[in-house]
Amino acid sequence: MKAIQVKHVGGPEVMELVELPIPEPKANEAVVKLSASGVNFIDVYQREGRYKVALPFVLGQEGAGVVSTVGADVTSVKSGDRVAWSSILGSYAEYDSVPAERLVPIPAGVSDQQGAAAMLQGMTAHYLAYSLYPLKRGETALVHAAAGGVGLLLTQMAHNIGARVIATVSTEAKATLAREAGADDVILYTQQDFEQETKRLTGGKGVDVVYDSVGKTTFEKGLNVLRPRGMMVLYGGSSGPVPPFDLVELSTKGSLFVTRPMLAYYTATREELVMRAGAVFEMIGSGKLKLRIEHTYPLADAQRAHRELEGRKTTGKLLLVP
Ligand code: NDP
Repeated sequence: MKAIQVKHVGGPEVMELVELPIPEPKANEAVVKLSASGVNFIDVYQREGRYKVALPFVLGQEGAGVVSTVGADVTSVKSGDRVAWSSILGSYAEYDSVPAERLVPIPAGVSDQQGAAAMLQGMTAHYLAYSLYPLKRGETALVHAAAGGVGLLLTQMAHNIGARVIATVSTEAKATLAREAGADDVILYTQQDFEQETKRLTGGKGVDVVYDSVGKTTFEKGLNVLRPRGMMVLYGGSSGPVPPFDLVELSTKGSLFVTRPMLAYYTATREELVMRAGAVFEMIGSGKLKLRIEHTYPLADAQRAHRELEGRKTTGKLLLVP
């Protein structure tokens, strides 16, 4: 089978299209023939070595497709079932072997491509808006990179809850998408000072929560736009990691909270995984959540997908199709 393998960490050029044997399932695993594999920013961190993975490895943390074979102990899925998963390495490939307990069935009415597009970013948006900081109607959230994969889904969920969304994006085209997703106010943070603008938009009150996936270039100013006892959710670092800072700043800036969460801890049990994936699929099925699969690439073009994602050229979801 064809797969995208990383033998040493580095830029997009380290992703090699290679020929590997189709995996054999272990007793607790199912082998899935992929219809689509999701591209996520975490793939970039792993490729460049910011998140450490034993070499060599097949990239990719998200996929959907049809079960081809199952291990001896697997009873929850069978050959022919349509399934999706996330947070298991190895999906930039034609086949992937996945622990059966991490697979969720794709409901009728949701395509395989939608399944692959919904899992990682959809469940992330869901835990951010519903579990980590359960947003309430009337509250205000600042959502950075709101036209990105997670950003567009988080903006829609926050809007559907009835919260006010102040969104940041880098271009006018992205601003249009953020508004369509339900953002009440959009700040072009490459042209305007988002700290000043957010203070102005909230009449100096500040926001209840900042959802920050950008990190290095936004974190510090984000602390300045929180209301007293507000919540900073630093869930990524697409501009680079946040440098160490003095925790006493949290007290002087208003007894603030900071958390650095990961999806894996919000889908740690089978029960929570099924609840969260089910909630996202239900929102898609009922039309409350619109997936924007804006960029579909052949598997062989994984390097281009990464260049465009890192180059801030993409919006919504990127998929690789084997
Ligand atoms: P996105 O589609 O959001 O792409 C990243 C976006 O970040 C860009 O489009 C860009 O939007 C913005 N950005 C700002 N500064 C930079 C920069 N210097 N270089 C590159 N991009 C920049 O990606 P994903 O939806 O896949 O992921 C979004 C974030 O969420 C990532 O940080 C990822 O790690 C994180 N994440 C965290 C999870 C968790 O559980 N902790 C789970 C899933 C994702 P613009 O041009 O508008 O600035």
